[in-house]
Amino acid sequence: MTVELLRNAVRPYAWGSRTAIPELLGRPVPAPHPEAELWMGAHPGDPSHVIGPDGTERSLLELVDADPVGQLGERCAKRWGGRLPFLLKILAAEEPLSMQAHPSAAQAAEGHAREERLGIPRDASNRNYPDPTAKPELVCALTEFHALAGFRDPGRTVKLLKAIETPGLAKYTGLLEAQPDPSGLRALFTTWITLPQPSLDGLLPEVLDACVRHVQEHGEFATECRTILELGEAHPRDAGVLAALLLNRLTLREGEAIYLPAGNLHLYLSGTAVEILANSDNILRCGLTPKHVDVPELLRVVDFACGEMPVQPGECADDRMAVYHTDAPEFELSRMEWTADDPTEIEVDSAGPQILLCTAGDLLVTAADGERIELRRGQSVWLPAADPAVKIRPLDGVRAQLFRATAGTCEE
Ligand SMILES: [Zn+2]
Repeated sequence: MTVELLRNAVRPYAWGSRTAIPELLGRPVPAPHPEAELWMGAHPGDPSHVIGPDGTERSLLELVDADPVGQLGERCAKRWGGRLPFLLKILAAEEPLSMQAHPSAAQAAEGHAREERLGIPRDASNRNYPDPTAKPELVCALTEFHALAGFRDPGRTVKLLKAIETPGLAKYTGLLEAQPDPSGLRALFTTWITLPQPSLDGLLPEVLDACVRHVQEHGEFATECRTILELGEAHPRDAGVLAALLLNRLTLREGEAIYLPAGNLHLYLSGTAVEILANSDNILRCGLTPKHVDVPELLRVVDFACGEMPVQPGECADDRMAVYHTDAPEFELSRMEWTADDPTEIEVDSAGPQILLCTAGDLLVTAADGERIELRRGQSVWLPAADPAVKIRPLDGVRAQLFRATAGTCEE
């Protein structure tokens, strides 16, 4: 029996919140530095550590490497070459992240091989494909969470562009109106993202002024325009501000999730969320960041499919459990909820490697042999594949919430 607590690394990216992660972990707030992400998993960049009963710690990456079949199960170990296929994160965004997309499995394999051939070091800042694998991701809101994701229906975007019409924008509006489909979006996005700086410097102030007017008039697209203004304030000369006009503006409520498959262009704006993703760092950025930007490579992977982004509901399908659906073979995320004074014990079967994360209340985890471990808010545990099922129930009468990360259905 090895239900063991994890000690997880915090990533201090500048866009992070000083309060969300420390508050969840029960540390003093505000923290002295931004705390952007908490990583739970076996990513070589910052693996979690498993805390043994005697307080000793071992890197989860080392544990998996030493016994892939015992830790991951035979099928998962074989399918993913002895690596834990997913990474679970808490994401705490105070400020917007970069605009980005991730490659498909085939694009990642090809890009990785190409950059290896070119001899670009894996940790170089201009490396696009440090990993040979895809990076699908799913983000589930813990607080109200704001994002731009996927291309808006072009008809709606034409309406938005007309609502903020300026002389400089008119020809671009006309371009999309003449071809309101993925090809038209590709043409307009490519034009904007590659505009020479002098043209951008002429157009952007005009667009931002138009957005100010639209917000003041409480126009139909006021929320979208406020986001453009926020991005424009932080990056006043960046073509990504124009590109942001083309994306869906989403507000997720607690428990709601979006799935970002390969090629989906997205930008997280603000809020706290649980994120699950394939254990990969392949990111192609097109702007709104001081980090490496590679527009030609991004254009190779972006998917210009358009329309509303499907938002998965936060309600629990059966009483206490919500499963988030994706086509990603690397992961599956589910959420368990107990309302106040609900003492029901839930059995969590042993389906490959699992990480359980408590995000509200306190829980009691009981293993098959009767051993018990208390899981407090902000704490997480590692369940190796070799372990039998465990049972979980709230420790006291308050509301409790648990996220469960597992590998997806491993096809043979
Ligand atoms: Zn992403």
